[in-house]
Amino acid sequence: MEYETSLNSPPSGGLTLVATPIGNLDDFPPRARAALEQAAAVLCEDTRVTSRLLARHSISATMIALHDHNEAEMAPRLVARMQAGEALALVSDAGTPLVSDPGYRLARAAIAAGVPVTAIPGPNAALMALTLSGLPPHPFLFHGFLPPKAAARAAEIARMAALEAAGLSATLIFYEAPHRAAEALAALAEGLGADRPAALARELTKRFEEVRRGTLGELAAHYATHEARGEVVLCVGPAPPPAETAAETLDATLRDAMARMSVRDAAAAVAAATGLPRKRVYARALELSSEAGGSTA
Ligand code: SAM
Repeated sequence: MEYETSLNSPPSGGLTLVATPIGNLDDFPPRARAALEQAAAVLCEDTRVTSRLLARHSISATMIALHDHNEAEMAPRLVARMQAGEALALVSDAGTPLVSDPGYRLARAAIAAGVPVTAIPGPNAALMALTLSGLPPHPFLFHGFLPPKAAARAAEIARMAALEAAGLSATLIFYEAPHRAAEALAALAEGLGADRPAALARELTKRFEEVRRGTLGELAAHYATHEARGEVVLCVGPAPPPAETAAETLDATLRDAMARMSVRDAAAAVAAATGLPRKRVYARALELSSEAGGSTA
């Protein structure tokens, strides 16, 4: 590993995605500071939130509000400014921009227009919760927020359970609003199994930082009677290793895919959908195909 120590400037005529603290304002490294100081403008979700960060670090910068409601409309104008040579920086209220936060549409538009895009990495609540959870750190699936309404949330959890039944085995990470944490845990326990190991991480990097570990059932029971104050991340350990039923599900999924495409394409599609190793899925597809007397194309 080779390290660089220079404070390389944000690209002139480009976009820098700058991560900001998720609670502790001191989690803000020198390169992040330099990127905001040197930018022609700082695009931010809420100018009041970003002003506090700028004031804390004595940075003076021009701010432009960029949020979910105006991003699509603003993106072409901002891309044009960068094409004309301006360096713009993008921050969100907390953590890494784009991750359950605005910025994706602008970054995509800049990339499509050939505008240089770089990032100053930093805090992210999902990764911090994952590393503190005590659950397998990889593979992981970052889901972001579950739908707030009960029926849509249950349907989304059922979709994840179906992926797991087809072989997906990854630690799952969810963002959640504190007042919905208890009902989300209950819905996850119901949909994925009350015995699944899990963790609720809250108030990360702040004074009352806490990680509570237990099964989904235990956490649901705890937070049914104790309010999860502050911001929370939920992590759920991977589904248990494939059982007989998972093998049967894989076979059914493969047979269905092979009815519509070649063995090779079917194996690739099923491996991508389930996260199972491609070689293993292809080997099973060949077995099923020869059992059925088919070709191995
Ligand atoms: N972009 C941010 C990131 O990189 O983590 C996430 C923004 S998202 C709108 C806000 C959610 O992130 C919160 O509802 C909570 O689930 C999680 N979060 C943010 N800060 C947190 C913290 N200090 N402790 C626990 N969870 C946090």
